[in-house]
Amino acid sequence: ASAPVSAAADDGIGELRRAASQRLAAAGYASAALEADLLLSLATGLERGQLFAWPERAVDAAQRQRFEQLLTRRVAGEPIAYLLQQRAFWSLELRVSRATLIPRPETETLVELALRALPADQALRVADLGTGSGAIAAALAHERPRWSLIGLERDPDALAIAALNAARLQLDNLSLMRGHWSSALGRASLDALIANPPYVRADDPHLGQGDLRFEPRAALVAGADGLLAIRALIADAPRCLKPGGLLAIEHGWDQGADVRALMQQQGLEAIETWRDLAGQERVTQA
Ligand code: GLN
Repeated sequence: ASAPVSAAADDGIGELRRAASQRLAAAGYASAALEADLLLSLATGLERGQLFAWPERAVDAAQRQRFEQLLTRRVAGEPIAYLLQQRAFWSLELRVSRATLIPRPETETLVELALRALPADQALRVADLGTGSGAIAAALAHERPRWSLIGLERDPDALAIAALNAARLQLDNLSLMRGHWSSALGRASLDALIANPPYVRADDPHLGQGDLRFEPRAALVAGADGLLAIRALIADAPRCLKPGGLLAIEHGWDQGADVRALMQQQGLEAIETWRDLAGQERVTQA
């Protein structure tokens, strides 16, 4: 407990790693050693492998200062994905920013559902509403070169990140459009409508915890009951979808019954609710 947590100015890279890892562990982060390495790689431009190959290696003052700033921000709670400006989703490494939600593993359930529910070899038109970083649309475009993906996003800063991801991943079958939900889409033109809309209740205490504190409110919160965006999506879906088209929506673990009821009210056939890897109801398909 008495070990020093700050490194001296002439400490080598090994000592910096050890001290940083201790600071992050003390701040409560379970993956402290990994995070320390990721931030040190970012600050120095060295690959992770190079960090442990040569513990005595010197770190120059500018790199040391950059590392210190990153560590301080992380200790203050800033999400590691925002500091690194990237997050792995599906098989892709995506750019993210504070304008976008940080893609989550449970959203991969939505990708899996779409891949299973729709034919791979047809030229389908599939829209991802509120695409944010473009995660869902990019994963589908990557897996299904025959499909045309449309990523729709209201926020111009998020849209720019999605466009950057499409370009970096060379996804020629993904086009991005500015617009608010399905208002920007034509009538009866889509084979599928996929969305991870905001669905958190305005008074949910989780909003004050962890990564959520730093994420865009508009991507998380959907009115007092968390169903504001989902209701609008379900109301619009019949207009945008071809007959027999697929609607797939991510929602909260306790919203499955509400979402199925809303779908039925609109004359949609709620086929199935899928569970995420944690076993929670997460995505409903109509
Ligand atoms: N799954 C997110 C969370 O509860 C919420 C994302 C969303 O509202 N679409 O952390």
